[in-house]
Amino acid sequence: MKAGTAPIRGAALNLRVEEGCELRDYEYDKNRCVKAVKEFIEKYNSTSMELYSKVIHHPHVTTVLEHVGSWAEAVRLAGGLPLRNRSKNEVIKAFKQTIASLGYIPSPANYQKLNLSPSHMSLYKNGLTYSNAIQLIGLPYHFKRKRIPEGKRLCPMCGVLFSPNNGKQIYCSRKCLDRFKSWKYRVLRKMNKKCPRCGREMDYPISFHKKKKHLKYCSNCRLHFNLRYLKTKEDISTMATKSTSVNFQPHILEELAKRGPQRAPIVNRDLERLYTLYDRALRRVKLTVDEACLIVDALNGTLHDVTSGTRFWIGVQDSIEMDELDEKWGVDGKTLIEKLSKLDDLTAMAIVDAAERFWCDEKSGDDFRKAVAEHFGIG
Ligand SMILES: [Zn+2]
Ligand SMILES: [Zn+2]
Repeated sequence: MKAGTAPIRGAALNLRVEEGCELRDYEYDKNRCVKAVKEFIEKYNSTSMELYSKVIHHPHVTTVLEHVGSWAEAVRLAGGLPLRNRSKNEVIKAFKQTIASLGYIPSPANYQKLNLSPSHMSLYKNGLTYSNAIQLIGLPYHFKRKRIPEGKRLCPMCGVLFSPNNGKQIYCSRKCLDRFKSWKYRVLRKMNKKCPRCGREMDYPISFHKKKKHLKYCSNCRLHFNLRYLKTKEDISTMATKSTSVNFQPHILEELAKRGPQRAPIVNRDLERLYTLYDRALRRVKLTVDEACLIVDALNGTLHDVTSGTRFWIGVQDSIEMDELDEKWGVDGKTLIEKLSKLDDLTAMAIVDAAERFWCDEKSGDDFRKAVAEHFGIG
């Protein structure tokens, strides 16, 4: 202790920051200030100067600054990290991300050797043992066994002793590997702010739970979930579906399978996309009613796949040449064909679709022009 410091009251070593045995501020020196800061850090698990000044009155924060020079220095001397100490939840979260990034569950000794953050000490400071922490992040802990026979390895997922096929093998089986992987990917996806279930972007925030603020999954996954588990609930009226039986061609089934196991929501989603795109394309193309009538007339009774559909103008050209549809509808045939031949594939298909819709509509017979205009979204 430095000479000339303020006189000390009572037992010099009893410096607990508790009511009844506080010192006056002038009685503190540098060492006592550091000790007070240390006790504060231990008691509140924080190195925040703001919190200190709120909850600790002796020594006052200004006294600490006066004796030590800076708050960061006081924290450093008190053995704390100058940064704000993390809360228990933050430590657990960091631990979870560390293990997921590492890609396997290390033994306690191995973890220490890797010198990762949070350290055993930070876990311990938050009242966690390594095995607690592993279990809290949703993984099993099987490192209780001390001796592992030569040539054997402990599977961290199921705790079984197995003989590895190669030096790299960590898990006893595919099943254990997959279990860890699915855990890992969920954590990593969440870390990267992606949907933890499928890894896609967290998209538009549609929720059927009005009070729920933070959506856990992307719209696609929520749709799957709702259709699968909440189908019977009436409160998802927006999701109302009608059951119908449809036969698919094998190659369509294959494409559907690529997009997930639940066919109905995928068919719904994809058709909605396609029809919306048709609608938009049709609005952009700007055909006159007469031109649309000519096209509908020319496409009567034709069938189109994508290849022929995107080149439907060739059929229209034939009809103009052979049946003089341009004269029938009072349209400049050459200009129309030039226009149609330059359309992009989507717009061409949208026009074919509109014509098909017209010919499917039983009410279309009454007023040809009016019905065509309606199906083409003109006027
Ligand atoms: Zn296993
Ligand atoms: Zn998803």
